[in-house]
Amino acid sequence: MIPAAFDYVAPTTVDSAVRALAEAGDEAKVIAGGQSLLPVLRMRLAAPTKLIDLGRIPEMRGVRDGGDHLVIGAMTTHYDIQSDPLVAEHAELIKLATDTVADPQVRHRGTFGGSLAHADPAGDLLAPALALDARFIVSGMDGRRTVSAADFFVDFFTTALHQDEILVEVHVPKHTDWTAHYEKFHRVAQAWSIVGVAAMVRAEAGKIAEARIALTNMASVPIRATAVEDALIGKQATAENLKAAAEHAAEGTSPTTDGNADPAYRQHLARVLTSRALTAAAGV
Ligand code: FAD
Repeated sequence: MIPAAFDYVAPTTVDSAVRALAEAGDEAKVIAGGQSLLPVLRMRLAAPTKLIDLGRIPEMRGVRDGGDHLVIGAMTTHYDIQSDPLVAEHAELIKLATDTVADPQVRHRGTFGGSLAHADPAGDLLAPALALDARFIVSGMDGRRTVSAADFFVDFFTTALHQDEILVEVHVPKHTDWTAHYEKFHRVAQAWSIVGVAAMVRAEAGKIAEARIALTNMASVPIRATAVEDALIGKQATAENLKAAAEHAAEGTSPTTDGNADPAYRQHLARVLTSRALTAAAGV
């Protein structure tokens, strides 16, 4: 189908994009890579009268070292993240999850910020952002503010962004001495996660000192599997201990039913995938 008619602007600064968004009100939408928005427009599930293209704002693109954290511009493509040495060194979980997103065509157009702002519960980058305690820098008419990953995702396809706000960049604390893995289950012909697991562990003297586990598509937003994390602390990273901890993965989850799976099957997947993710993260 063909989208409804819309006006198009392509500002070159964040401030002018925010102004354009505020002036147009509810009738406007920003567009990043267009990989999720364009299908929505073509199916006429949304018909904004104005599109504000973020693709010509240099300050929103690229990865840089912010000291104790990485600064990832919202308009950085999945492809650029995959090949970025800073991400590989300090936030490996994001690279590993990005490697599983879609196909090369989508990864060349789709953006890190677009995926997070879209807030699809099956999106693969939300759980890593949560596990890494990322901070979201958003800009609106009242200036900039920082939102934690735990507060950014509010519900299915809903974030803490106000109508006049743009996600500008994401600050990801460096996790250099952690090891990580992202494991997901998906259809062969479709990369979207039916369930995904982001796992990170930090060992000290042969025992797990810290663990972060975040789940994709096990609720309306990404959630931490805190019962698994608690069960891991102080344990040796043996296959037996990791599997026993992973048995808690479905606790506190509320997955939905769709054409791929019902809640009971998703909960089974969460346990199996958590065990696999932990085994790979811990190098067992
Ligand atoms: P857009 O489509 O441009 O925007 C999406 C939404 O976010 C819009 O509402 C837009 O207004 C808003 N938005 C975008 N950027 C900002 C911003 N900076 N500030 C505020 N609001 C913003 N994703 C996965 O995680 N895993 C997969 O396996 C996967 N498979 C895919 C397969 C296909 C065939 C396709 C087409 C997409 C797939 N995706 C997958 C989605 C892909 O990762 C998209 O890149 C992502 O969902 C949206 O990013 P985008 O940059 O294209 O955003």
